[in-house]
Amino acid sequence: MKQSFYSLNFTELSQVCREQDLGREVASWLYNWHYKQNQQSPFQSPRLSKKAAEFLGNHFEFQRPEIQEVHQATDRTVKFLFQLADGRSVETVLIPFQGKYTACLSSQVGCAMNCSFCYTGTQGFTRNLKTQEIVGQLLEAKRWLSDNRPNDCRLLNVVFMGQGEPLHNFDAVKKSVEIFLTQNGLSLADHKITISTAGYLPGLMRWREEMPTVNIALSLHAVDSDVRNELIPINRKYDLNEVLNCIDEIPLQDKRFVTFEYLMIADLNDSTTDAKALGSLLQNRRAFINLIPFNPFPNSRYKRPDDGRMQAFKECLEGFGMPVTLRTTKGDAILAACGQLKV
Ligand code: SAH
Repeated sequence: MKQSFYSLNFTELSQVCREQDLGREVASWLYNWHYKQNQQSPFQSPRLSKKAAEFLGNHFEFQRPEIQEVHQATDRTVKFLFQLADGRSVETVLIPFQGKYTACLSSQVGCAMNCSFCYTGTQGFTRNLKTQEIVGQLLEAKRWLSDNRPNDCRLLNVVFMGQGEPLHNFDAVKKSVEIFLTQNGLSLADHKITISTAGYLPGLMRWREEMPTVNIALSLHAVDSDVRNELIPINRKYDLNEVLNCIDEIPLQDKRFVTFEYLMIADLNDSTTDAKALGSLLQNRRAFINLIPFNPFPNSRYKRPDDGRMQAFKECLEGFGMPVTLRTTKGDAILAACGQLKV
């Protein structure tokens, strides 16, 4: 069976090229062609030697997930439904910010975490995405942007906040990150990539040893363990204190923060007492708090707090001297906001 070109990080590709004696620069050139120039077929280029073309043709395929549907919101958010080779689908979202976009990628078909507030969780877990399916989401979304919005097609950030728990698919996520960072290719800066986790401790433990220096976001959502157990069932297995201790041990680069996402749900975790507990927990950490108003979906059981209550919560946290943002919801109209992805 042929291997996907998009499953190889630069070191692996260089090794293949060396072993096959394809020429010193071929790996760099291929990375430039497929990632920087976003070309899908290597055979259209005159730079490829006959020998290299033959080898690539025999051993590699260059398939990407296919865009099946595109939904565009008036706030310029774009949601893609991608079809994968086995007929499964995942969603990817482009979130606009000041003329640039953040790409929100999926890491799994469905999700095994079963969080009570998340639409993706209601569909259960089907399978992990392969590296090429993660990388392909970004390349295809970028291609769509340059074809359809040529005047504002720049990418700002990449976040692993789509469907799935990225750390539950550690190997493929790690390799995609390595590919995104590679200089001859997409050449994304490490601080432009964020991986968000529900607190999957085995993945965080590996992160400490193996993950390139990208940003960590933890979906915290509650300090009280009964409430967190209700919201994020894996909290019963991976205790919040252990999760936080593990995150504390991951070295942080200068001027970087760990983002703590806190979902705001009316009458569940939105009181000023909750805000104080959150403030005390994070006070001595290099924390950036991102408050996310709950986004409803069909048959969801929670409600979003009213604006006054969210504002009071935010001010209370600011009293602890911590940076806090209250996330504005984008893409709500096309079910593309946080927690609304389900196929
Ligand atoms: N599994 C990872 C990646 C998903 S990120 C994680 O849990 O972090 C998606 C973010 O959206 C998470 O912070 C998640 O908690 C949040 N989210 C999920 N459902 C939501 C909803 N209905 N409204 C608002 N945010 C939601």
